[in-house]
Amino acid sequence: MQPCLPGAAGPDGAPAMLGVMGGGQLARMFVHAAQALGYRTAVLDPDPGSPAGLVSHLHVRSAYDDPAGLAQMAQQCVAVSTEFENVPAPALAWLATRRPVAPRAEAVAICQQRLAEKAQFLACGVPCAPHAAIAREADVAGVDAALFPGILKSAQLGYDGKGQVGVAAPADLAAAWQSLQRVPCVLEKRLPLRHELSAIVARAADGQWVSLPVQQNLHRDGILAVTQVPAPDITPAQAAQALDGAARIAAAMDYVGVLCVEFFVVDDGSRDGSLVANEMAPRPHNSGHYSIDACDVSQFELQARCMAGLPLPPPRQHSAAVMLNLLGDLWFAGAGAAAATPAWDRVLSLPGVHLHLYGKAEARRGRKMGHLTVTAADAATARDTALQAASRLGQPAF
Ligand code: ADP
Ligand code: MG
Repeated sequence: MQPCLPGAAGPDGAPAMLGVMGGGQLARMFVHAAQALGYRTAVLDPDPGSPAGLVSHLHVRSAYDDPAGLAQMAQQCVAVSTEFENVPAPALAWLATRRPVAPRAEAVAICQQRLAEKAQFLACGVPCAPHAAIAREADVAGVDAALFPGILKSAQLGYDGKGQVGVAAPADLAAAWQSLQRVPCVLEKRLPLRHELSAIVARAADGQWVSLPVQQNLHRDGILAVTQVPAPDITPAQAAQALDGAARIAAAMDYVGVLCVEFFVVDDGSRDGSLVANEMAPRPHNSGHYSIDACDVSQFELQARCMAGLPLPPPRQHSAAVMLNLLGDLWFAGAGAAAATPAWDRVLSLPGVHLHLYGKAEARRGRKMGHLTVTAADAATARDTALQAASRLGQPAF
């Protein structure tokens, strides 16, 4: 692949423009990284106030499958990426007939569908939770009792724990499926989790790949709350196994770009527990945000480099890091019913605190409004400072 060098003239003669489908916070941080490299950026998102649209050279305000919007992206951009997996795969496939698109539509389509995703894991020799498709009446009747207690997840469009419901026993399955409007689902056995981690790899068109160190993740109510790197409870063998699995999965999909695979460490009675893949994202991931402040190349710069065909030297983490997600709930922590800006000055006074707010106009409970990354020379200091920051924001310890 010919690299699209930063600053080189694009189709309109002006400096090359990189495009991203979707205008949320992931696209916003991509835009920042691409612009730092010297690219112009284009964002396609129907929302006039989208976090990335607000900071991009060009904001195409159209639906994801709007032919005029897609044509504008193809015309203006030297390459196109995506910030979320639910961009219609046909839209990416159409763009790919005109410009390099990374990741490929076929890979994104696999990541859109939990069953396809699990099949991909298994085909690559990466174990995942025992599961079954629940798409028809007969699936409910014939379900394997060994999958209980389980979690019923909508096969598509779920995120942050949405579209999921716990199912204690086979007799509860029909009602659980009904509560999800009987959309196609996956029933997964609920596993005894010791820890959660994620592995982020970036893969170039020639197959070369690099990785970030694995992240250890804590979720609250199905939403990522805390990421720690180095991962305090993950053995070196587990970290290597997770990165190797992610790289094999990427290679099998002929993947170009940043891929994140979420893993569980499951209690199987052994000393360290065993690794099971959960799901994957064909894009930078919330658990990789720390790389902006703690690594010499961030996951967003890796995304830009992959799509532009630039070199991928191995990333190096230069600081220990703890990331705290900042949900809209923080805006409602005070006495009044109205949203109030959290007292950021109280955390910005701590050493090594990097505050990132996404520019969303309205705070809502459970909505990701920003994150903060605490960096320090060693993991104990990063953790200690992050605990202080959490306490000052009224968040629980971890
Ligand atoms: P989402 O797409 O919303 O991130 P996940 O499948 O990653 O959905 O589930 C969200 C969280 O729910 C996981 O990070 C984990 O904490 C918990 N979880 C999901 N599946 C299982 C399972 N099979 N066993 C135990 N916990 C699970
Ligand atoms: Mg998840």
